[in-house]
Amino acid sequence: MARFWLPGQEEALADLAAGEWSARLEVPLSVNGATVTGVFRLKLQELDPGAGLFRLYVTDICRRTWLEQPAGVLGDAARFAGLPTPGVGWDSLGLGCIDLDTFVELTAMATTWLADACASLIAEQPCELLCTHFHAIDSFYHLCSAKLDESVTPDPDERRRYEAAEIAVYQQLDHAVGHILAAVDAPALTVLVSDHGATPAGSPVPLQRILADAGLLTAEDRGGRDLADIDWERTLASPQGSCYVRLNIAGRERHGIVPIGSVERVRQRVIQAMLAYRDAATGRCPFSLVIPKEEAVGLGLYGAGVGDVVYAVHEEFADEHGRILPQATRAAGDWGMRALCLFSGYGVRSGHVVEDPVWLTDVAPTICQALGIPRPLQAEGMPISQLFVG
Ligand SMILES: [Zn+2]
Repeated sequence: MARFWLPGQEEALADLAAGEWSARLEVPLSVNGATVTGVFRLKLQELDPGAGLFRLYVTDICRRTWLEQPAGVLGDAARFAGLPTPGVGWDSLGLGCIDLDTFVELTAMATTWLADACASLIAEQPCELLCTHFHAIDSFYHLCSAKLDESVTPDPDERRRYEAAEIAVYQQLDHAVGHILAAVDAPALTVLVSDHGATPAGSPVPLQRILADAGLLTAEDRGGRDLADIDWERTLASPQGSCYVRLNIAGRERHGIVPIGSVERVRQRVIQAMLAYRDAATGRCPFSLVIPKEEAVGLGLYGAGVGDVVYAVHEEFADEHGRILPQATRAAGDWGMRALCLFSGYGVRSGHVVEDPVWLTDVAPTICQALGIPRPLQAEGMPISQLFVG
């Protein structure tokens, strides 16, 4: 057993045995001149009294105030179980500060708190539409999908540990959905959309180096995967976000050097350099698609935020998501971007399965059709008419 105090306080915060969580603890914090309550928990991860050593995990220090708009609509947030931890254990597990079990305990705290808050809003406030997002499964797949895949994690015992954690996170989410639905009096239209799918991260494509080798990008090579300190005065194009290359166009970019008259020529150089590249280990071109942005409208990519060249990679070069095409799948295992979408209530056919592809942008128009209200003028998708009787 170990006892923990805050500096300057008489009373101990918690007495903890190894592996034990504290109750929720409170600490006064000064924020912009106001005193607010910070809420957190401690977990004593390891204790070695003989050596005088311990490893203590402190959760995010969460706030209970300023969480909502209009102010006060949540009521007393101290009554909700769990913790409104914003990170859902992401950094802590990614940095190796906590083990898998502790991560699953943290996702439970975050999910429980949000479900409790949603159920209270439904029960206590006039509520026509409740929309919420649980992030735990996204964190899980980003951090752990490689541990579920046989090709990356051959040890069956290790895979089984992660499979059990995956199921535990789904059970938490299932419980949260049930808790929210139980708070609804009248029959409601319920729409459940899963997180995007995931693929275990493969070998990354060194796009900066591809552009640098083609004389399109100038930066310092410090030996890492990415180059450092891009010299914008001597760079014609650089990677942008997950799946774009952006040209350094004069008049558009802060240090733009590509004259308007040369944009198409430079863009073709970028596309050719990418298509000509071969992965050293496989001899394969990692890119499944490299096109000018104007041709990417059919992928739903358009507008000023989209880079001048749009690309996608084959699944073995992908991250968890963002760089592979939505319908690409990994041959081994059941990995891909496919998502689950469930509709229930309000004239939705019971047990009907829509086999055709539908899109996230179809959800809002479908809700409008079910409720008999006009869909927003800005809605890009279409109602999923097959869902409804008649
Ligand atoms: Zn994600």
